[in-house]
Amino acid sequence: MTLRLSNTLSGERETFEPADPDDVLLYYCGLTVSDEAHLGHARSWVHVDVIHRWLEHLGYGVRHVENITDVNEKIVARVGERAGDGPLGKDESGVAREFIRQLLADMRSLNLQRAEVYPRVSEHISEIVDLVRTLIEKGYAYESNGSVYFDVAEFPDYGKLSNQSIDDVEAQGAEDERSEKRNPADFALWKAGGVSEAAVKEHRNEDREYDADNPTGETWDSPWGEGRPGWHIECSAMSMTHLDDSIDIHIGGRDLVFPHHENEIAQSEAATGKQFARYWLHADLFEMGDEKMSSSLGNFIPVSEAVERFGVNPLRMFFASASYNSTQTYSEAAIDEAIERWERLEAAYDRVVSAADSPDARTKVESPLRESVEDARSSFTDAMNDDFNTREALAALLELAGAANRHLDGADRYDYRGLRRTAETFEAFGEGVLGFDFGGDTDGEATLAGELVELVLKLRESEREAGNYGRADELRNDLEALGVEVQDTDNGPEYRL
Ligand SMILES: [Zn+2]
Ligand SMILES: [Zn+2]
Repeated sequence: MTLRLSNTLSGERETFEPADPDDVLLYYCGLTVSDEAHLGHARSWVHVDVIHRWLEHLGYGVRHVENITDVNEKIVARVGERAGDGPLGKDESGVAREFIRQLLADMRSLNLQRAEVYPRVSEHISEIVDLVRTLIEKGYAYESNGSVYFDVAEFPDYGKLSNQSIDDVEAQGAEDERSEKRNPADFALWKAGGVSEAAVKEHRNEDREYDADNPTGETWDSPWGEGRPGWHIECSAMSMTHLDDSIDIHIGGRDLVFPHHENEIAQSEAATGKQFARYWLHADLFEMGDEKMSSSLGNFIPVSEAVERFGVNPLRMFFASASYNSTQTYSEAAIDEAIERWERLEAAYDRVVSAADSPDARTKVESPLRESVEDARSSFTDAMNDDFNTREALAALLELAGAANRHLDGADRYDYRGLRRTAETFEAFGEGVLGFDFGGDTDGEATLAGELVELVLKLRESEREAGNYGRADELRNDLEALGVEVQDTDNGPEYRL
């Protein structure tokens, strides 16, 4: 069975065929660093991570890019905010830096596969300016009062993602932009000057104290004067810079379909004449009670707090229990259930491994466990190929845990082959795809050690590619001297601490 996924662009479930049969180009619309990441973000991250892992499981190389929005009026609004001993940040980049540090730590604590690059807006201003200039030259954008707007009437496909005709598109941008625009639905690619006082006021919290009265944020030079990039243009510029004009998968929250993603398509396709992304995947909302969990509503649980309170494995279990494109609601009861399920799965794994490693391993007995394993593997695979249905995939693993327990409870002799295959299945699918860690040891140190080993293995790989085999062997020997076992497999080097 091949992978099929729901494409928002066509509104249909389609067979996945990347442009290059070996590598998938994937862009995830990342976070604006104006606050701590919360459970809703963690949910999207975990699902994107599972999608990344499943694509790799299917044999694709995954080139995953995830932007960090560090230029935004919400960040500017927090400049000078009193926090602890001093201000959160003295300027926009200072506030952003503080939240980026937390964001990267949060990602690491959730056991996420690394993206290839986490590009930041502040480092891509020249690419953004170039793209805006191209759009003006091609007649899709116009300058007005030092700002530049995209002319939606010039792009006949406008509305194709959110399924609306141009005439029905609602007005975009702030009230005071209206007089500068040809059409109320036109949107800003570049905004003259800094962030307005009104915008800062809108995002400030009356219960907090601020040392800076009128922060305006950073501005950059451009052919149209000093200013700041619009929000949407960043993702077009960064996706094209780090991946290609045309990519395979673009993922984001359902609330980004309009206007963000609609505008990304318009800008990118107008500029290049090529399809921007072939598959548009949207993660559904994460709710708290009957509200969306969000920073602006203030009803959120920060990732760092959730990891500490519940543990990474139960959190991943909780997220996997609802597929990415269904709404999930947070509740204590749902978390408790996830904790209980995780404990059940981990206990079964531990039992299977210790039985499989017990001394009578040569006794031969066949049992129905072998069939249960193969059933679980094919159900898991079918579920993941069916639009990344983690809920069903997880059910297959839990069922296998039940079958393994029944075998261990009932048999007077063990089916060693069945047990070993069960352990391998838990490892390949539970750890490899759903991202659990059966070692139980998910503290920061263990993760850091693993990441350092990966880093050295990457170095070794590039030495080999450069033909420096002697140096590559040295690196491997150094790792082995530290007790790291390295094995070269068809999927690249693997290691054991
Ligand atoms: Zn996007
Ligand atoms: Zn985006």
